[in-house]
Amino acid sequence: MAQELLGKPVIAALKEDLTARVAALGRAGVTPGLAIVRVGAREDDLSYERTAVKRAEGLGIAVRRFEVPEQAGQEALMDAIAQVNADESIHGCLMFRPLPRGYDEQAACEALDPAKDVDGIGSAALARVFTGRGAGFAPCTAAACLEMLDAYGIDPAGKRVVVVGRSLVIGKPVAMMLLERNATVAVCHSRTRDLEQEMRDADIVVLATGRAKAYGASCFSAGQVVLDVGINVDAEGALCGDADYEAAVAAVGEAGAVTPVPRGIGGVTTSVLMKHVVEAAERAAL
Ligand code: NAP
Repeated sequence: MAQELLGKPVIAALKEDLTARVAALGRAGVTPGLAIVRVGAREDDLSYERTAVKRAEGLGIAVRRFEVPEQAGQEALMDAIAQVNADESIHGCLMFRPLPRGYDEQAACEALDPAKDVDGIGSAALARVFTGRGAGFAPCTAAACLEMLDAYGIDPAGKRVVVVGRSLVIGKPVAMMLLERNATVAVCHSRTRDLEQEMRDADIVVLATGRAKAYGASCFSAGQVVLDVGINVDAEGALCGDADYEAAVAAVGEAGAVTPVPRGIGGVTTSVLMKHVVEAAERAAL
């Protein structure tokens, strides 16, 4: 049976570390502050918001919500971002994306103060991920993949990694972060020839395509580590990843390890967001 790479112990370890750091900030008279900017009321945004608020409050991070009605338009969103930038009690900002049709997402991302861009949505943050220079934060989901590997003592150095998916949110930044950690990285996508072979040849596979249970036994091989970032709904309406979990577990075997969905990377992403907020508060205050 493959090792199940659960998010829970990683979340617990992060909580312990962050609790101590929030206490230290408190002694310096600082409460870390997270702004949540949401346009409209999509159910998956609301669900993530509930989780983020609960996680933040459990750590003593103050949350301020900015709700922009879907019909309000770009100017209202830019006004909310300007308020976030101006408010010294806010150290980090989570803005839900994709924005509803008609909004200029890039303009909104670039308007956020890079020091508060704790989910790596602006060019300055991405430049940091790609150049290794500057002080920005990596996108939380990409950072959560590294957090998971580190927590389970899996060193990517020298390993062959295949990242399936090339979005700016996950695929590209996680590839750069793994390269920075001395992995040999291939980034695959919808035009990759013989994807299954590419995947089977890897030591570590990162799946970030948004295709429910699309990768089965023929995509994996013995001893692999599989990080499944996908959050999808299957034909029965249940949450699932990009991998066919049972097939992946069987294919990688006893020497391998797989993250389940749910209970895997998703929850770690929320904790990484909190870590970035605390770090932003430390940079601003200490
Ligand atoms: P995205 O922007 O839609 O990108 C999907 C990527 O998958 C694209 O690069 C696409 O290739 C590639 N792809 C699509 N079909 C493919 C195929 N048949 N073979 C190989 N590659 C294929 O998605 P995303 O925003 O990166 O999100 C990916 C998944 O992660 C989703 O399930 C999302 O819900 C999940 N997610 C999880 C978290 C978390 O915290 N765990 C956070 C955010 C998102 P092309 O570029 O060639 O089109």
